[in-house]
Amino acid sequence: MNTELRSKTRTTADWQAADAAHFLHPFTDFQSLAKKGSRIITKAENIYLTDSDGQRILDAMSGLWCVNVGYGQQALIDAATRQLKELPFYNAFFQTATPPAIELAELLAEVTPPQFKHVFFTGSGSEGNDTIVRMVRRYWDIQGQPGRSVIISRRNGYHGSTMAGASLGGMSAMHAQGGLPIPGIEHIDQPYWVEHGQHRPAPSRLKAGDPPRGAGDEGDLGAGISREQFGLVAARWLEEKILAVGVERVAAFIGEPIQGAGGVIIPPATYWPEIQRICDKYGILLVSDEVITGFGRTGRWFGCETFGARPDLMTFAKGVTSGYIPLGGVMVGERVAEALIERGGEFEHGYTYSGHPVACAVALANIKLIRELGLVERVHDDVGPYLAEGFESLKAHPLVGDAESCGLMGAVLLVKDKDGLKPFDESVGIGMVCRGHCFREGLIMRAVGNRMIIAPPLVITRAQIDEMMALIRRCLDLTLADAR
Ligand code: PLP
Repeated sequence: MNTELRSKTRTTADWQAADAAHFLHPFTDFQSLAKKGSRIITKAENIYLTDSDGQRILDAMSGLWCVNVGYGQQALIDAATRQLKELPFYNAFFQTATPPAIELAELLAEVTPPQFKHVFFTGSGSEGNDTIVRMVRRYWDIQGQPGRSVIISRRNGYHGSTMAGASLGGMSAMHAQGGLPIPGIEHIDQPYWVEHGQHRPAPSRLKAGDPPRGAGDEGDLGAGISREQFGLVAARWLEEKILAVGVERVAAFIGEPIQGAGGVIIPPATYWPEIQRICDKYGILLVSDEVITGFGRTGRWFGCETFGARPDLMTFAKGVTSGYIPLGGVMVGERVAEALIERGGEFEHGYTYSGHPVACAVALANIKLIRELGLVERVHDDVGPYLAEGFESLKAHPLVGDAESCGLMGAVLLVKDKDGLKPFDESVGIGMVCRGHCFREGLIMRAVGNRMIIAPPLVITRAQIDEMMALIRRCLDLTLADAR
């Protein structure tokens, strides 16, 4: 039977059986998935998916944080088709280039912050962060300071799944497999106010020179400390780490403006400016991982602009093509670019698909469409604030300990008891219970521990936000009924 015919005649059960027999999914317990069966997604349009049983699902996660312009955009489909016909592939090694890669490099220099005039293309965000490790270390070699090789990142950060990406990331479950992290990566704690302020008091972390505590402080970091004060405390963990490692050994700090996979942890407004100040003070490079927060997600083109940082390097992927085709890269700021270009000689690094012409053609069409539709401004002025109002109203729900959003990224903290934000026992798996209800009710929301997170396509309308909020409320009610 030819493949096309087979696709048309297969039932959901057929798909699930073939899937379980052959397909090892990412970040998945293979045996457990084989028992439960996958949900088979067959089509999508705008912000809605359709599964193999014909159920319509509102995709509040933009695929995997990537479908910024929504599904079915003809301009992207046409760009790919045209480029596939004209020149489906040529590489960028050996002094060659293709028009889409050159034009995309030009356009990226226009839409990114002014310090960025150069780009290094990769095939994914993980490859982008591998490139960061190599580039940062190469930069310090060129500066005649090869001892500066340590990169500092954060617990519960996510920077991809390659050896370097997973090492930069601070996911303990990932580090437990395959001998990670690789040498030369250090982690500090995340700027998660709820965790530090409410659930895990750590008085020893508060040092002399930290901002004064508020009235009523019982001695626990966070209790009696405002979000803004906590932002400064958390940023200064970087300074402590730099001094502990030794300034002469530290190359860079990397962080996501908002930790996405870690549960949409939105840092206090004071955090990033203080991180910037510390990096400047010690001359270390600042890297912003914009794989999720890039291309309008937070209401500015890049998350570092929302949070007031001026990074030296920026990783991007996902939203650059709205996920229609894989592409990633690193924006290289003037400080690093000058060293690499003027004094670096050959940079011994690159991928077959660095600057893939079809991916670059799709990215060009995607960025132009984001501009034409004014999506960044829309997130900033209209749908972002509208979502924030909806999330604010969720705080009244008995299961919700906190709800916050920034642009079109949001998280709802599920708690057993709102008083003191008392968490459910881990064995309840409250997030997964809620996620199950979402699946059945036709909503894709992701569970990270006890945080339910969303990042819908930037084309979402106010009416669709209303529809999404009604579904979220319904799923919270169903989860509450289960939890009682
Ligand atoms: N960096 C961040 C912040 C991410 O969220 C991700 C993926 O979710 C990555 C890097 C890795 O990107 P990729 O999965 O394209 O390798």
